Amino acid sequence: MNRILASVTTLEQHLSALATNSEIYRPLCCPHCGISGMWRHGCYYRKADRSTGQSAGSLNPVAILRYLCRACKHTCSRLPACIAPRRWFDWVMQALVLLMLLSGDSVRHCSQCSCRACSTVRRWRTWLNTRGEEFTFWLRSRFLELGRHPDQTSLWRDVMQNMTLMRAMAWCDCHTDVP
Ligand SMILES: [Zn+2]
Repeated sequence: MNRILASVTTLEQHLSALATNSEIYRPLCCPHCGISGMWRHGCYYRKADRSTGQSAGSLNPVAILRYLCRACKHTCSRLPACIAPRRWFDWVMQALVLLMLLSGDSVRHCSQCSCRACSTVRRWRTWLNTRGEEFTFWLRSRFLELGRHPDQTSLWRDVMQNMTLMRAMAWCDCHTDVP
């Protein structure tokens, strides 16, 4: 919960924030024990820039700040919205695959078109099937226009085509564990 910083939507914004305004990443309180006053605790690195591969223009590796709770000693970090938690593939690719599945395409076909393993496509499908209703609840509480959709398929098509999965998950992350 609250692991995603919704306002940071590109890697360039993230790098700029790290350099000039890194306080925006500091959690208000410890996600484990709730005590406020988290300490900065170095950073770790993630591959996040998929646009340029290994070329010189790549932004990889991307630093993610870590924080330490002075009370319970747990560490945590917050991700910019452009980096999907616990995933190598980004939100855009995941949304494309899910849109194809919602349109009735087979797992094999989605796998071939996206160059992702069938197991990855199935995992994403299971994720939406099992968590979709919960996410829908939180999305409808904020985006009232989503209430007009007659079913989940119609709603998720709208979310992925118009809102983007990144924005939707950044909102859900305020209320529940997203990945
Ligand atoms: Zn704590």
